[in-house]
Amino acid sequence: MDIFEKCEKFTRADDIKAAGIYPYFHELRTRQDVVVNMEGRDVIMLGSNNYLGLTSDQEVINAALDSLKTFGTGCSGSRFLNGTLSLHTAFEKDLAKFLGKAECMTFGTGFQANLGIIAGITGRHDIIFSDRENHASIYDGCKLSYGETQRFRHNDMKHLEELLKAAPKEKGKLIVTDGVFSMSGVICNLPEIVRLAEKYNARVMVDDAHGFGVLGKNGRGTVDHFGLTDKVDIIMGTFSKSLASMGGFCAASERVINYLRHNSRPYMFCASLAPPNIAAAHKSLEIMQRDEKRQKKLLEISKYVREGIEKRGLDYKKGGITPIIPIYTYTLENTFKACITLFEKGVYVNPVVPPAAEDGKCLIRVSLMSTHTKEILDKAMDTIAGVLKSIK
Ligand code: PMP
Repeated sequence: MDIFEKCEKFTRADDIKAAGIYPYFHELRTRQDVVVNMEGRDVIMLGSNNYLGLTSDQEVINAALDSLKTFGTGCSGSRFLNGTLSLHTAFEKDLAKFLGKAECMTFGTGFQANLGIIAGITGRHDIIFSDRENHASIYDGCKLSYGETQRFRHNDMKHLEELLKAAPKEKGKLIVTDGVFSMSGVICNLPEIVRLAEKYNARVMVDDAHGFGVLGKNGRGTVDHFGLTDKVDIIMGTFSKSLASMGGFCAASERVINYLRHNSRPYMFCASLAPPNIAAAHKSLEIMQRDEKRQKKLLEISKYVREGIEKRGLDYKKGGITPIIPIYTYTLENTFKACITLFEKGVYVNPVVPPAAEDGKCLIRVSLMSTHTKEILDKAMDTIAGVLKSIK
């Protein structure tokens, strides 16, 4: 059999393109901002994870530019060998301190951080307990690990306890959860996870890609939001959202970080982050620390949009506080149609379809930036309401 046969037979994307409702790979011609130009059209951006709006902040841009002048464009080597710059170590120190952990290490991306942490820390004699709605990179980290993976039903603490109870005492145990679930905006039940971890002698890892910058004091994240910094063993996060850059991190005890630095293959055998990535993330962190206004505004407009969506009678996931607001469109066809029609009318949102959503529970995912104004959000919500009503 030709290994490429599957490629010849793969026509799903072509079929959707032929139907004129393919919503992916739009080309941006401007920065990631409140309004962007996509393929010559100005659209309100409601699909970005640039939660604090810092990707277009002049201070952040200047920090990245300065780093290029001093350190050049790349590191051409692993952190382990020739790729450690003073920029990396200074940032890791500040980030660890901010998060209340002894040490921190950085990875090439958030995705890679999950691969490197999970596969690095768990071995043949360990079990990973992973929420079913965890991010794809956690799934892949589990696949890469020699340990066994057991998935618990989403945020279902009874199920998690059943699994923990049934696990052999001599096995090492790691519970992994998203802090804020990326597709639904739901916050994990961290107090209960921590309680179960103590009861069954397990360790806890939180992927806070979507909680960092959003929840907790000055955006310290989900773990700080619950006041559980001392009880969570590993905090993972990314620079590609609130920190307006690219990269990932792991914050933990000195012994855990020391172990991962010498055993995590995606860390050791990968070139270190380029200077502007680190400099932009570091400057963003500095801004978060001195200025709470962006985080406060973000939470305020998240509430405003939830209320606005409710008022306009849309079917959305209720009860949240985060800037991720899912609106149900149910079928795949309606979801793609909604995205394309919204794009034509000047609003960009992300489609969420299987495997990121359950079959028949597709949605459009609205995500907010603290730089969105209420005026822009009103306009976007009116457009969304009009389009979704016309599609039904
Ligand atoms: N974890 C979660 C929960 C995410 O949502 C993402 C990215 N969407 C990642 C990890 C990966 O981060 P990055 O895009 O920075 O690689």
